[in-house]
Amino acid sequence: MFDYLVVGAGFAGSVVAERLARGYGKNILLIDRRNHIAGNAFDHYNQHGILVHRYGPHIFHTNSEQVFNYLSQFTSWRCYEHRVLASVDGQLVPVPINRTTVNRLYNLNLTSEDEVEEFFAARAEPRSSVKTSEDVVVSKVGRLLYEKLFRNYTRKQWGKDPSELDAQVTARIPVRTNDDDRYFTDRYQAMPKFGYTRMFENMLDHPNIKIQLGCEYRDVMKEAKYREVIFTGPVDEFFDFRFGELPYRSLRFEHETLDQEFLQPVAVVNYPNDHSYTRITEFKYLTGQAHRQTSIVYEYPAAQGDPYYPVPTPENGSLYKKYAELADKHDKVRFVGRLATYRYYNMDQVVAQALTVCKQIVAAPEFVPAAKAAAAAVGKSLVARPAFAG
Ligand code: FAD
Ligand code: UDP
Repeated sequence: MFDYLVVGAGFAGSVVAERLARGYGKNILLIDRRNHIAGNAFDHYNQHGILVHRYGPHIFHTNSEQVFNYLSQFTSWRCYEHRVLASVDGQLVPVPINRTTVNRLYNLNLTSEDEVEEFFAARAEPRSSVKTSEDVVVSKVGRLLYEKLFRNYTRKQWGKDPSELDAQVTARIPVRTNDDDRYFTDRYQAMPKFGYTRMFENMLDHPNIKIQLGCEYRDVMKEAKYREVIFTGPVDEFFDFRFGELPYRSLRFEHETLDQEFLQPVAVVNYPNDHSYTRITEFKYLTGQAHRQTSIVYEYPAAQGDPYYPVPTPENGSLYKKYAELADKHDKVRFVGRLATYRYYNMDQVVAQALTVCKQIVAAPEFVPAAKAAAAAVGKSLVARPAFAG
């Protein structure tokens, strides 16, 4: 008899499994339909011995000390600040848009932040309310930069025009007036030193966690004995698509290894206007691995396939609300993670959400910790000290 059946061994499921087992002595059955742990963050050494991310580039960044400290119990880190270039008009320009982007695309030599500010102000189209992903960009930098960098990339990535997507999609990308060409400015930016999968292995290495891979929730629920469920798969699937399918955007990943040391100048090059792929990632920049060859991945957006992204539109938000109401009523099942709560969450946000759910579980009056673990947990906080190894 397990205390919890946890469906999905990605960040959401693994954090909950780890906390309830290690923190409170609960017995966990953790399952995944894939044949590996780590969900979409899964990485592995390919046939050439290069560490690659099977499901596209995963760069860890967070402003949350709690999340960073929590994960630091299971990995040391390699400092890494992500940089992205976009191929536009035959040249490579920084994304997010910054002073260099403007100077290169407009053949200018703006030197101060004020000049760049004025440049944007002269082109920005004011919007009384910023509702869509088009509004976000056009209201800050004007139509030309929007068209060169955002419109076609977004259409390709989502199969929708930016005007159909909620503001949050393009609002992920800031606009800068200085030369900062980092993709993220979070306080903590680092990659797990030995990869994500190793970090997950450390997290789940506990006698109270039993892992079963390559199995479906529907099959396991018939056979296994457990008291409660933590579900991290697509929420519409859990409820047999009762209100219709919630759209999730998919990708096809094409991996390749080249007989040269490097292909491109940075980890990721975006192709807003050319090709049917959105971007090429070169993994050695992310991992710091030295190798005479280089491995890359192309991302081809797709309507069908594994669910990777919730699609943030007003209609989908309304449809999700109906599922969320059903989910709230289900007192023996908790829904956690990017697919189960239909949120365009980064890894750190999923970890934070999972830690919050654990706190709610253990704070419930009916929660009884296993005696031994409870004794060990007394006086201990949920997080340990970080082991930041540069
Ligand atoms: P998942 O990782 O999707 O895990 C859910 C698991 O549940 C899956 O392994 C699935 O197989 C399993 N499952 C589902 N249904 C069932 C079922 N019925 N039975 C059994 N198992 C089931 N975040 C960042 O912070 N930085 C990045 O750079 C970044 N890059 C990304 C790039 C791409 C291409 C993608 C798609 C995402 C990226 N993310 C990034 C987001 C990150 O992948 C997610 O935030 C995180 O992996 C979500 O974790 P999760 O546990 O909610 O979901
Ligand atoms: N985007 C764009 N052009 C770019 C980079 C991003 O139009 O060069 C838009 C696009 O809609 C994308 C969104 O901004 O889906 C968020 O980008 P991010 O890099 O955060 O996407 P993710 O890594 O989650 O796929």
